[in-house]
Amino acid sequence: MIELERLIDHHCHGVDVRPLSRARLEALMSEAHRPEVPGCTQFDKPVGMVMRRYCAPVLGLEPHASPEDYVARRAELGGEEASRRLMRAAGTSDLLLDTGHRSGDILDVPGMAALSGASVREIVRIEAVMEQAARTAGSGEQLLTLFEAALAERASKAVGLKSIVAYRTTFDIDQSAPSRAEAAAAGDAWLRRNAESGWRRLEDPTLIRHGLYVALDLCVQRQFPLQLHVGVGDRDVDMPKCDPTVFVPFILQAEVKDVPITLLHCYPFVQESAWMAEVFSNVYFDVGFTLNFTGALARRAMEDALGMGPFFKQLYSSDAFGLAELHHLGRVQFQRMLSAVLSDWVAAGDCSVKEADRTAAMIAHKNAERIYRL
Ligand SMILES: [Zn+2]
Repeated sequence: MIELERLIDHHCHGVDVRPLSRARLEALMSEAHRPEVPGCTQFDKPVGMVMRRYCAPVLGLEPHASPEDYVARRAELGGEEASRRLMRAAGTSDLLLDTGHRSGDILDVPGMAALSGASVREIVRIEAVMEQAARTAGSGEQLLTLFEAALAERASKAVGLKSIVAYRTTFDIDQSAPSRAEAAAAGDAWLRRNAESGWRRLEDPTLIRHGLYVALDLCVQRQFPLQLHVGVGDRDVDMPKCDPTVFVPFILQAEVKDVPITLLHCYPFVQESAWMAEVFSNVYFDVGFTLNFTGALARRAMEDALGMGPFFKQLYSSDAFGLAELHHLGRVQFQRMLSAVLSDWVAAGDCSVKEADRTAAMIAHKNAERIYRL
């Protein structure tokens, strides 16, 4: 097994340390937003299988413990102790935490640092900052001013920014910067709609484009990356339009400004993302989510990533949300799959042991150290 002296998880979320019922635990193992199928369990799928194999021993159970035993042992230890054991077992040295999603349910940056013992830094989600600004803005123009000030303030303490544009509008939008007047008018219309509906989810493409270009300027100033959510998400994702190749016009704008763009999760567009990392000097990618959710067959995703993507462009992420299990599993799956592929290359004489170690170090930490300046 390849040794990982430092492992930087460049995209993950906090953990819910409250006591979790079996239903809540299973909901956090699922990307679906619907009740489970009666008589069926989330443990009967790739991530559920490897979770019982690799997380059960951390909680003092035999590998392959039954779902009933696993849930009972977790409850016996308590959510906090079970999570602490799993985070410590993962031993990830650095967590870059996206704090913009359901932050009321999960630990924040200091909470995750205390739980895991890792160095924890923040990634700020731009859409969440705009939604926050909308709480007090009286006009579109004021919304822009509040948003810009808040984003600059948050960025000053963060190591990167993130956008979920693919998720909210798809990548298939006008990708140029709107004028300030256009953005302010879109802000007026959005605030009016919010007042009528009581709903503050940002889905307006003009405002999101404005946010992206403000973010790009901050990334230039701070010399750190902009993360883009790609592919997988809730069931309302319009998947073909979340293909990152659709967003090339914007990525070219970032390339001119020398801003690294890090493509997150990438499933099912792993090959497209690897190709983009090859052709655009500023594009980086990870296959984090995919490694957990493809379980025992995660090697395929790792092969796709290593098949074209330059080794100096790949990153590690767990994309864990809510469950410490997913942080632990992220590390286990990454280490197993990377080791499996690199060992075969060494055995076939394609590379030396030294080169394999150097490649693993780039993906595990050196690339992230360079672009996030850690
Ligand atoms: Zn995520």
